[in-house]
Formats: sequence, structure tokens, C-alpha cells
Amino acid sequence: MGEPGIIKKLDEEVVNRIAAGEIVQRPANALKELIENSLDARSTNIIITVKAGGLKYLQIQDNGTGIRHDNLDIVCERFTTSKLSHYEDLQAISTYGFRGEALASISHIAHLTILTKTAHDKCAYKASYENGKLKGPIKPCAGNNGTQITVEDLFYNVLARKRALRSPSEEYSHIMEVVGGYAIHNSGVGFTLKKFAENTDIKTPIKSTVIENVRIIHGNSIARELLEIELKDPTLKLSVHGYITSVNYSHRKGTMLLFINHRLVDSPSIRKAVDCVYATYLPKNTHSYVYLSLELDPKNVDVNVHPTKHEVQFLYEEQIVEKIKTAIESKLLSCNSSRVMYTQSRLPGATMVEEIVKRTTDGAKIYAKDLVRVDSDTQKIDKFFRVADKLAKENSSPQTDNKKDLTTIEKRDSTVVGIKLDGRKEIDRTNNLYHNAEQNMDVDMTEGIRTDNKNIENPNKVRFVFEDSDHLNDLETSIMEHDKSNDPKDLNDLESSLISEPNKANDPKETWKSAAVDNANITYIDPKESFKTRTFKHERVETKLTSIKQLRLSIENKCNMNLREILANLIFIACIDCHRSLIQHSTKLYLCDTTRLTEELFYETILYDFQNLGLIRLSNPLPLEELFVLGLRSQEEEWNPELGDMRELSQQMCKLLVSKRAMLLEYFSLEVTAQGELSALPLLLDNHTPFMGALPIYLVRLVTEVNWDSEKECFDTLSRQTAIFYSQPNPDTLEDAIKSKMWKQEHVIFPAIRRNFLPPTSFVGNGAILQIASLSDLYKVFERC
Ligand code: ADP
Ligand code: MG
Repeated sequence: MGEPGIIKKLDEEVVNRIAAGEIVQRPANALKELIENSLDARSTNIIITVKAGGLKYLQIQDNGTGIRHDNLDIVCERFTTSKLSHYEDLQAISTYGFRGEALASISHIAHLTILTKTAHDKCAYKASYENGKLKGPIKPCAGNNGTQITVEDLFYNVLARKRALRSPSEEYSHIMEVVGGYAIHNSGVGFTLKKFAENTDIKTPIKSTVIENVRIIHGNSIARELLEIELKDPTLKLSVHGYITSVNYSHRKGTMLLFINHRLVDSPSIRKAVDCVYATYLPKNTHSYVYLSLELDPKNVDVNVHPTKHEVQFLYEEQIVEKIKTAIESKLLSCNSSRVMYTQSRLPGATMVEEIVKRTTDGAKIYAKDLVRVDSDTQKIDKFFRVADKLAKENSSPQTDNKKDLTTIEKRDSTVVGIKLDGRKEIDRTNNLYHNAEQNMDVDMTEGIRTDNKNIENPNKVRFVFEDSDHLNDLETSIMEHDKSNDPKDLNDLESSLISEPNKANDPKETWKSAAVDNANITYIDPKESFKTRTFKHERVETKLTSIKQLRLSIENKCNMNLREILANLIFIACIDCHRSLIQHSTKLYLCDTTRLTEELFYETILYDFQNLGLIRLSNPLPLEELFVLGLRSQEEEWNPELGDMRELSQQMCKLLVSKRAMLLEYFSLEVTAQGELSALPLLLDNHTPFMGALPIYLVRLVTEVNWDSEKECFDTLSRQTAIFYSQPNPDTLEDAIKSKMWKQEHVIFPAIRRNFLPPTSFVGNGAILQIASLSDLYKVFERC
């Protein structure tokens, strides 16, 4: 057993040096203390110059109050401070310093020089220190108001510490962190950081803002995503202010800039809580940027848990952390939903699509969440349904006759036209019509839509001919009766017949156009390019009427180019029912009110194809008077006896339409004979016929709702009423009828919408087109799972 060691009192210098080494562990700690001193001295501009990561040279120049000349001799002694005189003050201290240790500590481990001038002094004074004591006399010299503290050869006498800090660049990055943090927190104060004789690395202006300083220090990618956090809790005596990045920003290395009572500190519990909130939103292993400034009752904060005061403890920690967590969570959530709103309201002016298109053309990386399946036809869900349907049908009716496509169409349409006026209820109506159709329309598709030279000034005009039943002679009020005759086996034929658009012109323009439509998924249609070019199968009659030009102009003015962009490049996904459809554009899914879209489409069609509309000719003209009676009767409950006899009124109505017949035919392709019969309806869209059950009401409205006195209003209201009539879906609820309607929507209506439709801005707000999902948002959800 050896002798026990002799206990000796350590040399005071050694004690101080050890203490200093604990307080100042690296240059950044020293700088932090010096910056805090400058801020306490109410400086507005702080310039820091560094050599070799601060190990060789660290200078801080401020424009604060300066140090009194008579304090200079003791300023670097331990426990000398101007900020605290009683123990009780410790509890209420609101400045950075409080123990008068910083300068003393630094002077024990480095060569320290102070150059300072107060506003009252005539000149500046310079003093050097060693081990807390003045080294040599205080010299008067030239200098600005404020203080300049120079720290040279840090750790020159603590070699172990110096050896531990071998990388000046690492030390410099710590210095940058400290300066950046204080610059963001004290945005009113200008901060400059530069390496000796080199360019500045950080320079924030005086009276800047937090966001501006974040932009200067961290760049725009963080600054543009900043969301403000504000929280006050009187019971916890807590107030929080700060900025956090939205969920759009994520980075492998996150930043947590935390100030408690204006002191840059770390709080593991707050850091953990913040990370925990973001983990729900951000991709794995990425983090956010968070700057929080907490103000707590100084009584509740203990800063002395760590020698460098880097970590703090505070009362009610759990509750405070929970409050912060909730505040951040609700901010992110509200910004998430407002992002959805944002995209919705961006619909009109959205650049999203352009961004994607641009990125694609730039050849930049496209993330999976932005990828769009290009060929919807190869993968559509309903494709499988149809195959299944077909198989089922083939099995049930092996001798399906798919001979005449048009026959089927006409069969269907003629049953729709099945209006009988002789008061006799026809039981076998559908069968007869079927029969008649077979007899009368032994034509194929190309003949179905044909050019009818009779009666028309323009021989090229397309005429859609109904050679349907004689039964129209003995019409009956079967308007609302639904056609129950649709032979299910014909449905596929009907559909296939409609796919092949008849009379597709060899016109290259037309071919281009249809190519764009058919290959919808691969051809990008520039909405601006396409919306004014409408294609016609016949020679166009250019209208000279100003009223029509004005109405067209108003459509164009109301047109929302972003909606147009969406619709021009839409991919049809599915029909939900007769009134609603789902479409996709880029990475977004939209719900469309089909009826509203169709009405608007037809309204525009009438005005743009004014004087150029085709005809749907009824082989047997329908007596207008009878139709008016039907129309009035269907509104019987609203019938006012003062209006007189229904039949008399019908006669007058009929007279009015007859008197307008020339105009109706020339402009709207609505043909009324001199004898008061309706012989043709306008053809607005190939393969689309209106629901004839609504014809009587339409005719009544033509008389009652159309303003026949003023030209422009007349064309406007007439077009509107016709559009309403044509957009009304057949209320038939039979499964096959519904299928056929849905099929028409996909293959007739939506292609037309793609081609020419100019959606009005009102569609954005009224729910006609609603964005219901976005792939990138879904990705975020999946990433979290
Ligand atoms: P503390 O900050 O805890 O008071 P320091 O050792 O950091 O202790 O500073 C000692 C004193 O020196 C401060 O109380 C302050 O009066 C003065 N002082 C230090 N730096 C500055 C400065 N940049 N401007 C004005 N006074 C300063
Ligand atoms: Mg201090």
C-alpha cells in the first residue's frame, strides 16, 4: 500500500482556467457570450470577423453603449457584472448575462483586447487582459461608439482542449449557426459574419424581418414555406412566437432554432415533440425547419443546468411542450386544408399543370406522385365490366343479331319519340316501333347520317334523318312513359355504332382534331390554341349578326382558361350516375356535374354553330298545337284559369312559332311548317338526340321564356332553353338505359367537352367541377402509413 496523496489547494489560475474551459468549450460558445453582451448593450449592428474557425482570431464589433472607462480595469474579473447586484435579481433577470463570467473566462484562456467608447467619452479606450487582469495600461485611442472585443489564440494555454478542436472549418460552421440563429431571432439588429480578409458569409440588414433573414441565411426553399406560430397561455405564463416550415418542405437535416427568453438554447423535450408532429407529415427520415421563441416567466426557468447555459430547464415543461405540439399540429393541419382550398381556388389561375408540363419538358426529375398513366384505354376498370357483360349476354342469347348498327340507334331513338296524340294508350308501342324501325331503316351507319339536299340552302349541311314510325300519327301522351323495350342484347351494338363517328371528313384539320381527342391521353391540347378552332363537316356560313358575336365574346370573356386546360386534356374515368362523372387531369381527380356541363356545352354549341346547325328530321311532323297542350297539361298544377282555355292558348302559341319559323329554321335549324307542325330539330352534337319526353315543355318555354322582342336576348334565351332541353337526361331507370346514357356521356359528351367547351369561371365556385383528390396528397397519406 502506497502513501496517501497530499491534498493541496489548487492554484487560483488553474481553477479559473478549468472553470473557463467548462464555460467556453469551443469558439462558438465564446462568440455567443460576446454577442449576448453586445445585444445587452443595445447594439443595432454587430460585425464578427473570424480567423481559423475563431481559434486564431475572433473579433466582435458592436455599436452599443460601450463600457465606461472606469469599469475597464475590473470588467474581466470573475463575477463582475453590470446586470446583477442582488441575489433576488437572478430571478428576474431579463438580460443575457448574469454572472459576470464570460469575459473573465475568455481572458483566462485567450488573449483578450477591448476597444470601447461610450457616447460621453471623447475618445475610445483600449485595454488588454490576461487571466482576468488588465495587462498593461488602458490606452486612449481613436474609435467609434460601441465596443470591439478581440479574442486571439483561444485555448493557447489549454492545449488538451485545443487539440480536441482540430478542424477550423467545423468550428466555423458552429459560429455560422450561432450568428445565423441570433440574426434570425434579432431581426432588428444587423449581423455580419466574415472570415478575416474574405467575403462576408452572413449579412443581414438592420430592421429586417425574421422571414427575410431566414431567406438570407437558409435560402428561399425554407423561407417561402414558413408558417407563423403564435401562442399565449396566461396560466403557464407562456408566450410563443415563431415560424415553422409547412409540410411541403423536408430535409434530411432538420433545423430547430429555439430561444427561451431570448437565449439560444436546446431543449430535448421540445425538439422531440416537434419531430414527432412532423413525422406524421414528412417522408421518413426527413425533418423540418423550426424557429421558436419562448418567453417564460424568468422565475420558472433554470439556465444553470449546463455550464454553457446551452440547455435549460423550466417549470411545467410537460404542459408547455404539449401546448407547443398542439399549436404546430393545428397549424400544419389548417395549412393542409387550406392547401386543398388553395388548389381549388387555384383552379382558375393554377400553374400546377404548367409546372408539371414544364418540368417534363425541362427533362427534370418527375416524382412518382406526379406521374400520370398515359393510356387510360388499356387499363380502364369498366373495360372489364363490359367484357363480363358481353360474355354474360353471349351466354344468354347466343343468336344475337348485330347486323345493323344504326337500326339499333333508330330503334331506340324512335321509341323515345313515341308520342301519341290520339288519346289511346298504346300497349304494344315498343314492339311496333321496333318493327317499324326494322322496316324503315334498313340502312347502315354511313347512310344514317346523311346529306339531305332537299329543302336546304346549303347542300353540304349534315342532316340526321329519322325515318321512324307511322305511329307518330296516332300519338298518345306517353311522354313520361319510359321506354321499357330496350333490348339488352342491342346495347353493345348501339355503343359500338356510336364509336365510329360517321362521315369523318378527310379534312386534315378534322383528322388532327380527332387524333387529339382519341389519343387524349398522350396528346396535350393547348387550350389557348384549340378553343377558337371549331371544326365543321360542311362549308361554314359565317354569321354577320353583331348580337351573336357579342354573345360569343361574352362566353370567351367568362371562360376560365385553367378549367379549359383541365377539360381540354381530361381523361374520362367513370360515370357515377346520369348527373355526375369523374374525370382525371394530370394527377388530379375531378367530380363533374354532367348535366350542368352539358347544358353549357350545348348553349355554346348553338351560339358558335349559329346558322350552321344540322337537322334531326322527324319523318312525320308533329302537330305543334297538340304538343303545346301536352306541355301545358304537364304544368297543370301551375295553370292559372285566368289564362283562359288551354287549347286556345296552345293555338296562339303555335301561331307565334309559325310566325317565327323562317328565323327558327335559318338560325337554329328548328323547322316548323306553315301548317303548324314541327318537322325538324337542331342537331347539336353528332350521336346525341334530346330526350323527347321533354319536347312539349321545351316548346312551351320557347314561347314563355324567350324574349322575342330584342334580338340579342332572343338568341340568348332561345339558345339557353334549347340547351336545357338537350341536356336533360332521359329519366329512364332501366339498367340498360342507364348504361347507354353513361356510354353516351363518355363517348359523345365528354369528347365534345374536350374539343370545344369554354367553361365559365362560375364553374369553379358552383361545384360544377370539383377537385376531389390529388395524387401527390394521396402519396403523402400513403407515406405516413
Ligand atoms: P455578464 O454579461 O454576465 O454581465 P460578462 O463577463 O459577459 O458578464 O460581461 C461583464 C460586463 O461587461 C457586463 O456586465 C457589461 O457591463 C460589460 N460588457 C461586456 N461586453 C459589453 C459590450 N459589448 N458592450 C457594453 N458592455 C459590455
Ligand atoms: Mg455576458
